[in-house]
Amino acid sequence: MSRPRVIRPVTSPFDATAQIPGSKSLSNRALLLAGLAEGTSVLRGVLDADDTRAMAGAIESFGATVDADWETGTISITGIGGAPSGPLSLDANQSGVTGRFLLAAAAVGSGAIEVTGDEQLRARPMTDLTGALTALGARLETSATGGLPVTFASAGLTGGPVQLPGDVSSQFASALLLAGPLTAEGIDVQLEGEVVSTPYLDMTVEVMARFGVEVDAFGAARYGVPPGGYTACELTIEPDASAASYFLAAAAVTASTVRIEGLSTTSVQGDVEFAEVMAQMGATVRHRDNAIELVGPNQLVGVDIDMRDFSDTVPTLAAVAAFASTPTTIRGVGFIRHKESDRLAAMVTELGRVGVRAEETPDGMIIHPSVPQPSVVQTYDDHRIAMSMSVLGLRNPGTRIADPGCVAKTFPRFYEALEALHPDREPLVVVIDGPAGAGKSTVAKAIAERLGLLVLDTGAMYRSVAHSALTRGIDLKDWDAVGDLAAQLRIEVDAGQVLIDGVDATQVIRTAEVSQAVSVVAAQPRVRELLKHQFRSWMVAQGGGVAEGRDMGTVVFPEATLKIFMTADIEERAKRRAAESPDFSYESALADLGRRDEVDSSRAHDPLTEAEDAVTIDSTALSVEQIVDEVIELLADLVRP
Ligand code: C5P
Repeated sequence: MSRPRVIRPVTSPFDATAQIPGSKSLSNRALLLAGLAEGTSVLRGVLDADDTRAMAGAIESFGATVDADWETGTISITGIGGAPSGPLSLDANQSGVTGRFLLAAAAVGSGAIEVTGDEQLRARPMTDLTGALTALGARLETSATGGLPVTFASAGLTGGPVQLPGDVSSQFASALLLAGPLTAEGIDVQLEGEVVSTPYLDMTVEVMARFGVEVDAFGAARYGVPPGGYTACELTIEPDASAASYFLAAAAVTASTVRIEGLSTTSVQGDVEFAEVMAQMGATVRHRDNAIELVGPNQLVGVDIDMRDFSDTVPTLAAVAAFASTPTTIRGVGFIRHKESDRLAAMVTELGRVGVRAEETPDGMIIHPSVPQPSVVQTYDDHRIAMSMSVLGLRNPGTRIADPGCVAKTFPRFYEALEALHPDREPLVVVIDGPAGAGKSTVAKAIAERLGLLVLDTGAMYRSVAHSALTRGIDLKDWDAVGDLAAQLRIEVDAGQVLIDGVDATQVIRTAEVSQAVSVVAAQPRVRELLKHQFRSWMVAQGGGVAEGRDMGTVVFPEATLKIFMTADIEERAKRRAAESPDFSYESALADLGRRDEVDSSRAHDPLTEAEDAVTIDSTALSVEQIVDEVIELLADLVRP
C-alpha cells in the first residue's frame, strides 16, 4: 500500500485543459475485438491502465500479436480471426469488465480455457453471465461461490436466443453481444426487467460496427447479433468520460474553468451526461467543437437525479454535492453496491469521516450541505472512491487519500493531472512568529480559514517532544536521549488536534509542566533540525499554509510569501494566558512567559528574533478581526498579479 497522499487545495480559481486518458470502456472493447478480428487493427488513444493492460495480456495469451506503445497509446494488433482455442488460461487481474468479456470470448472458443482474476475480482458476481452461457450450451465449471476462476470445456457455441436480467450489470449483456458473432448461428439477447446502463450497450454496438458487425437493436432490451466474426479496423479512442467527471467536478467546486478536449455530447459514452448534471447544479457548460468547457458557479445547488445510466459518476457527484447549498438525492443505482467496492456504503462512510452528512437509501444516497473537515479518507481499493474524495480535497484543506495508488486501475496519472490544474504560482506561505501569548494561534487559524489553508502549529510539535520526554522520564538536559526520542516520535498536528504515535495529546501538551519543559527541549539543535525538516515537508505536501512559531520567518521558511511578527505587552499576554488555561493564574502566567521569552530569545540556535522583512503587529490593543483584515490586505498587495 502506498502512503496517504495529501490533496493540495485550490486557493485561487484555475483555467485549464484537463489531461484525460482514453476511455477504459472503449479501449477494452476495441482491444478484445482487435484480438478476435481477421487482420491487423491500429488503435490510437488507448488507455494505459491496469484494466487495459489485463485485456491486452489476455488477447496475447490467446494468440493475438500485440505491438503496443503504451506511452502514446498506439497499439497494433493482429487478431486470431475467430474464437480462441485451448488449452489456455486468461487472467483478468482486477478488471471486472475484462473478466466478463473474456468469459464470453472463452465460451465461444474450443478446448480447455480458464478465465481467472485477482482476489477482489474472484469475489465479484458472475452467475448471471455463466448462467446465460450455460443456457447457450457452454460447458463450464465455476469456483465454489459461482465466480472466477471459470473453466470451459466447450467446442464452440451454436447460438440462439438467450435471456439475461437487465438490472444487474450491463457488462454481462455487453459480453454476450461481443461474443455473439463467433457463434455458429448468431445470438438473440433479451434483457429482462428494468435495463440499467443502456449507454454502455449502445457503445458495445457502436464498437462492434467499427469491426464490421451490424447488431440489430430492438429498443434497449433486445439485440440480434449475426454470425460471421470481426474484421480489423483503425480506431481512435475518445478520452474517458468517467475520468473526465473528476475534472468537471474539480472546476465546479472551485469556481474554476476546465476544458475536456475530444469529448462532446454526441459521445458514445453515457458518462458525458455528468456535465449536464453540473449544469443543473449551477455550472456553466459550453459545448465547443469536439470539447466540453465548464465554468464553476460561486454557489452550487443540490439536485435530485436518477443516475442509472451513468452510475460510475455517482461517487463524483456525491463529493460535489457536499458543497451545494441544498441536499442532493441520487436514485436508481442500488446495483453499484457490487462494483470494486460497495460504492454507496463507501461514499456515505468516507463523506461522514470528513464531516459531510450523507445517508444511504435503498437505491442511492442523499448528501446534505456540510462544512467538511481535514481527515485521511479510506479508499477500499476502489479507484473511483479515491478520485472522488480527491475532488473534495481540492476545496477541503487537509484531505488525505489512503492507498492513493489504487487509481492505477483506470488512471495511473490521476494525481499529476489534478496537480496540473493548479495555477502556475508559488504556494502561499504565511508565517507568524512572536513570543508566547501574542495571539499567534488565534490569528493563524482565522487567516488560514479565510485563505482555505491549514495551520502548522510548530509550538505543538515542540510541546509534543517535551511531553513525551517527561512521560518517559528522560532527563531534558540529556541532549542525545531527547534527540533520539524526537527522531522516533510520529507527531501529527491537524486542525487543532495533536496525535503522538496515534494517541490524542491535544490537551496534555498544554499543561504548566510541559510549558516549563518545552523551552529547554526546543533549545537543542538536533531537535530543531529534525522538526525543521518535518515543517518543510508538511508545507510542500499541503501546497502552502500558515505556519506559526518562533523562527518560521528567519530559519524554516525564509522565502515565505508574507512574514508577520506578532507582539503584545507581557501583562496583556499573561492576562490572555490565564484566561484561556485553568493551569495558570495571572501571576504564574506572567512568570512563565517572562522566563520563556528569555530562554527563547537568548538560545544559541534559531532564537526568537524578528525577520528583517517581517511586518510587526502589536496585538495589545487590537481585536482578532482587525489583525486578520490587516494581514489579508498585506497579502492581497503581495500576490496581486
Ligand atoms: O507556541 P507555543 O507557546 O506552543 O510554543 C512552545 C515553545 O516551543 C516555545 O516557547 C518555544 O520554546 C518552542 N518553539 C520554538 N520554535 C518554534 C515554535 C515553538 O522554539 N518555531
